Amino acid sequence: MLTNAPRGTKDILPETVGSWQYLETKIRDLCRCYGYGEIRTPTFEHTELFRRGIGEGTDVVDKEMYTFQDRGERSITLRPENTASTVRAYLQNKLYASSPVKLFYIGSMFRYDRPQAGRLREFHQFGVEVLGEASAAVDAEVILLAWDLLKSLGLEDLTVSLNSVGCPKCRPAYRAALQDFFRDKLPELCSDCQSRFERAPLRILDCKVDGGKDFMADAPKITDCLCDECREHFQAVQEYLTALKVNFALDPRLVRGLDYYTKTAFEIKIPSLGAQSAVAGGGRYDGLVKEIGGNDTPAVGFALGMERVLMTLEQAGKLPPPNDKADVFVVAAGDAAKIPAFELITACRRAGYTALMDYAGRSFKSQMKQADKAKAPVALILGEDEVRDSMVTVKNMASSQQEKVPLGEAVAKLAAILSERKGE
Ligand SMILES: [Zn+2]
Ligand SMILES: [Zn+2]
Repeated sequence: MLTNAPRGTKDILPETVGSWQYLETKIRDLCRCYGYGEIRTPTFEHTELFRRGIGEGTDVVDKEMYTFQDRGERSITLRPENTASTVRAYLQNKLYASSPVKLFYIGSMFRYDRPQAGRLREFHQFGVEVLGEASAAVDAEVILLAWDLLKSLGLEDLTVSLNSVGCPKCRPAYRAALQDFFRDKLPELCSDCQSRFERAPLRILDCKVDGGKDFMADAPKITDCLCDECREHFQAVQEYLTALKVNFALDPRLVRGLDYYTKTAFEIKIPSLGAQSAVAGGGRYDGLVKEIGGNDTPAVGFALGMERVLMTLEQAGKLPPPNDKADVFVVAAGDAAKIPAFELITACRRAGYTALMDYAGRSFKSQMKQADKAKAPVALILGEDEVRDSMVTVKNMASSQQEKVPLGEAVAKLAAILSERKGE
């Protein structure tokens, strides 16, 4: 037990952290272009925030939260997602003073779920939230941001599923129409759906158990029930996406069951991933800020599963090769070379080079082997003669050419060899 991390968690080791850094850099660069500022909220919050912000009756709140009493007997929950925290931070820090507020986050989320491929109990999400703007242009912008990110990573085979879930004005009529449709089919629905029938009939549409049943295709579509405002908004989002050549398809079964979700709902899918093809999902949530205690504030965002994107990139061979090469290995032969070698390696590091050495006093031959293994293109060798003469032997590991230079010129010589190699 001591040497096993808890089920559903994973170490990210130096050999794979490069993929994460690559993805994070792409995200940060893109968010800068789109004008989104990074927010980092606490890993845990008051449980009540998620109960309100995600909603009672959802699987996340009812079955999946990591909730505990802290020593002050407060109920604390590890964040299962970052939207509620972001809205809390928006209100607490009065970010609404200038709107719209465009935020992004990258971080760990926690859900007690059955671990499966690309789904851990501690997992990572990138997401954006735009608060304080009702325009359909912002819905299109966040979709486009996710789209551009995945495209820039080299993922070609993408589709966006798009729907509108209406608003508090037009949804009651749709709920009633759905209930009328499902009433005589209740015995055929799973037990979850039977309990959803009264409080969240929209969620029957995306039930994992019942979603594939034949009669689902005949269920009333919310897009036939939208009020004028919602219909115009939905139309406008589609016009923006069409103009930007985003490959979207309308999916009337894409719903989000809670009242504060409004208008646009979307998912971005990579069809080659099969059953778990959705890598990002989001939409508008004009009712959430008020739910958490603020004024009526329109808002829209999405979250993207980073593990799933990295898995896809790996399968598609789209990850950059790991950068695990040292620039230089400093070889010290004999006790007298120890301090000069340490000074020399420090000079290399201070000049910005990845410099390695042996600390255990191994033989000259063994140190040269280590230099090979580190794939260092240059070895700086300090033997007894070199130390006595304040010189260093600079060995080009590729050509095996070597020359002695004054110790003070070693870093400049290293720089020259490395930049020559770059030019090749
Ligand atoms: Zn409406
Ligand atoms: Zn069901």
